[in-house]
Amino acid sequence: MRLITLLNHCERFPGFVYVKARLSEQSRTVEIDVRPRRGSKPVCSGCHQRAPTYDHLSVRRFDFVPVWGFIVLLVYRMRRVDCRDCGVRVEEVPWAIGKHQMTKAFMLFLAYWARKLSWTETALAFGSSWDKVCQAVEYVVGWGLEHRSLGPIVAIGVDEIQYAKGHKYLTLVYQIEPECTRLLWLGKERTVESFEQFFIMIGQPLAEKIAFVCSDMWKPYLRVIRERCSQAVHILDRFHIVAKMNDALDDVRAAEARRMAQDGHEPILKKTRWCVLKRKSNLTSHQRFRLRDLLRYNIKKRISSNSGTTCRQHGPANSSMTGAGRRCARASRQ
Ligand SMILES: [Zn+2]
Repeated sequence: MRLITLLNHCERFPGFVYVKARLSEQSRTVEIDVRPRRGSKPVCSGCHQRAPTYDHLSVRRFDFVPVWGFIVLLVYRMRRVDCRDCGVRVEEVPWAIGKHQMTKAFMLFLAYWARKLSWTETALAFGSSWDKVCQAVEYVVGWGLEHRSLGPIVAIGVDEIQYAKGHKYLTLVYQIEPECTRLLWLGKERTVESFEQFFIMIGQPLAEKIAFVCSDMWKPYLRVIRERCSQAVHILDRFHIVAKMNDALDDVRAAEARRMAQDGHEPILKKTRWCVLKRKSNLTSHQRFRLRDLLRYNIKKRISSNSGTTCRQHGPANSSMTGAGRRCARASRQ
């Protein structure tokens, strides 16, 4: 099967004809000449209407999808049109946009691979350059944004991502619904001003329909969510809640241990961190015994505290838990 036949099967352009393919083994390039079909008028790039030919420009080469390790170029001599409305202008060709050197097919191809490989790897693998991969991604993202419908947004998630060196962050907002999970917006920094840009982009009517917001406990996010989505249910990231609870538990345990040591009690709380934090099913047999002792000791303490004999100044476990609970409640309110 000839290369031209193959091209006609996968990428046919009405009004144009593939003439012949030339192979250059030295530069590992295949050049394919393209010419206008006889009698077809060029299209004006200003008003997108057909217009008579004015003259011809020099030959241009357009990068096409490579084949079997060979770079493929479409070679075409551009025409200028004499448009009634726009004057003399360069024609519009269906395989490329404006002054791009790459065909649309090649840009789609590069952008597809740029999702799977790094941009440098993509450029190396397909005989292109980093700049061209960047242009391809910009083209595809631009097209996607232009044709995007924001529609009703019910649930969003906001998070930050660190990039480069030092404390440089981007704010990312995702739509997180069972039938639609997508990145909606990305902004520099993780400040109140940057996150507010998202709500400016979607507008007040859409923002008012948001029913669920999921975020971490970064204060600028919490403030913007409180102001812009006051009607939405705010779900806090479980990781941060658990981290805060663990911190609170550690603080209480350390304070209790110190107080017990001061009062001359046995150091039962020492090395019990993981006994308290781990899931019951994950405890080792040694930790299980330690936890049992700890709980027994706690009960003993409570009984003695209630009967008014000793330990009143230690405070029973209830008071400790109130402290932890208070911290967590404060955390979830923030
Ligand atoms: Zn025109």
